[in-house]
Amino acid sequence: MKYSCLLSILVLTASTALYAEPVAQPRIIVAISVDQFSADLFAEYRSLFTGGLKRLQSGVVFANGYQSHAATETCPGHSTILTGSRPARTGIIANDWIDQSIDRADKKVYCAEDPTVPGSSSTNYTVSAKFLKVPTLGDRLKAVSAQSRVISVAGKDRAAVMLGGHSIDQVWYLSGASFVTLSTRKGPPPAIIEATNAAVAKLIAKPASAPLPAACQTRSVSVPVADHEVGIIHEAKAGDVGAFKVSLAFDRAVTDIGIGLIHDLQLGSGPAPDVLAIGLSATDYVGHAFGTEGAEMCAQLLGVDDNVARILKALDATRVPYVVVLTADHGGTDLPERNQARGTADAARIDPALAPSKLGQQLATEFGLNSPVLLATQPFGDIYLARDIPDSMRARVLEAARNKYLSYPQVAAVFTADELRRMPAPSGPPDEWTLAERFRAGFDPQRSGDLLVALKPHITPIADARYSVATHGSPWNYDRRVPILFYRPGAVGYEHPLPIETADILPTLAALIGLSIPAGEIDGHCVDLDPGPGNTCPR
Ligand SMILES: [Zn+2]
Repeated sequence: MKYSCLLSILVLTASTALYAEPVAQPRIIVAISVDQFSADLFAEYRSLFTGGLKRLQSGVVFANGYQSHAATETCPGHSTILTGSRPARTGIIANDWIDQSIDRADKKVYCAEDPTVPGSSSTNYTVSAKFLKVPTLGDRLKAVSAQSRVISVAGKDRAAVMLGGHSIDQVWYLSGASFVTLSTRKGPPPAIIEATNAAVAKLIAKPASAPLPAACQTRSVSVPVADHEVGIIHEAKAGDVGAFKVSLAFDRAVTDIGIGLIHDLQLGSGPAPDVLAIGLSATDYVGHAFGTEGAEMCAQLLGVDDNVARILKALDATRVPYVVVLTADHGGTDLPERNQARGTADAARIDPALAPSKLGQQLATEFGLNSPVLLATQPFGDIYLARDIPDSMRARVLEAARNKYLSYPQVAAVFTADELRRMPAPSGPPDEWTLAERFRAGFDPQRSGDLLVALKPHITPIADARYSVATHGSPWNYDRRVPILFYRPGAVGYEHPLPIETADILPTLAALIGLSIPAGEIDGHCVDLDPGPGNTCPR
């Protein structure tokens, strides 16, 4: 047990009683991730919160947190939160990437799959943390004391697994229309899972629509996009799982499970600290389906406020010291149609000519190669050269591909894998990083593309907006900046504009419980949670 530095923290804190009473070592560490909760949304709504997000603002508020890497997607983002590491080290470079050496027809791999399961593919997969190259907080705690319990519940499987890690005691996530767990778990599910699944089935069969909160009325303005309109609340269709995922009931169900497990497992009552990770995924589904600036997102964020209040109430009821950190896996931006109407002149949908298949076809013609020349999971980010291109031609094809991308006005920059491989890992404040450094922070020589393509700001990489109108994933700050809030009951709070990283969360939490992390194992740095001369970080 390596909790010796706790004593020195307590002594230091006690000597600064002007600032704070000593805060006991947390017995429960709770990490809440709100999917697609940008720092911009936090700034926009923080004065409207009356529940849990208001209470968390009495703690230590970093309104200027960063998912510092370029690939601002769910899986990389969640992989940073409890590992202390950026995607270049976690290995989770994207939600999906291309592996041309994999022995199956589908060369795309999913970040949270186990590709060794026979017959699996990137869309029909067995959930696993196999691709995560580093330990999480839960893994580190378990290595020190097997009696620590690690619980992870989220709307999405990749959120649950990347927050929980390799040795999760209980992990639950939505698959289809019910909450499930890893195939390795034996025995019947806990009562709270069965009760929640029964309630979810009823809600999907007969959705209960909530009235728009009064605070959101002014945001209810219809915006036409593709074949429909967004901005106003629509009646949910019965029998539609997609409608459930954008409803307040989705996060509420995840919260119900989290609260149920806090109670049933008596978290915090054991001999070693327990970890509970909660991934609230609905904000992301709302952002994709309706954008970020309409009545839908307003109602959703007030729902998050309520769910966080319920989690805090359940933690209070344990009567043990706890710490909560709340952040997001990435930010997001609004749909280009509404951004444009509000004055962002450069907001646009991606030029369909930028599809890797189309550019690859042109290269195939130019060089007399078999198509596809370019492989990718999306029209930006990691772009791979087909491995059957002869070695003698690869450099020329790569250069031609780069120039082709750069000839399109919507492309901001293109980096080659070689350029990124030669760069050192970025240091210094993440708000000052160059575009290349943002890509370097998520570059894995084995998994990343041969080219890494950045679109210009406010170019939404969804050409056809019938199903999804807005997204994230860019290296721009609206996608990188997220709030990072630390809350310990009884501790004095403060707000700091310091641009910290989500990779700083793990060492900050570890210091509170005296869990030592060998130097050089992570990218993050401990952040002092004491507003006075005390210091919650190791000296
Ligand atoms: Zn996400």
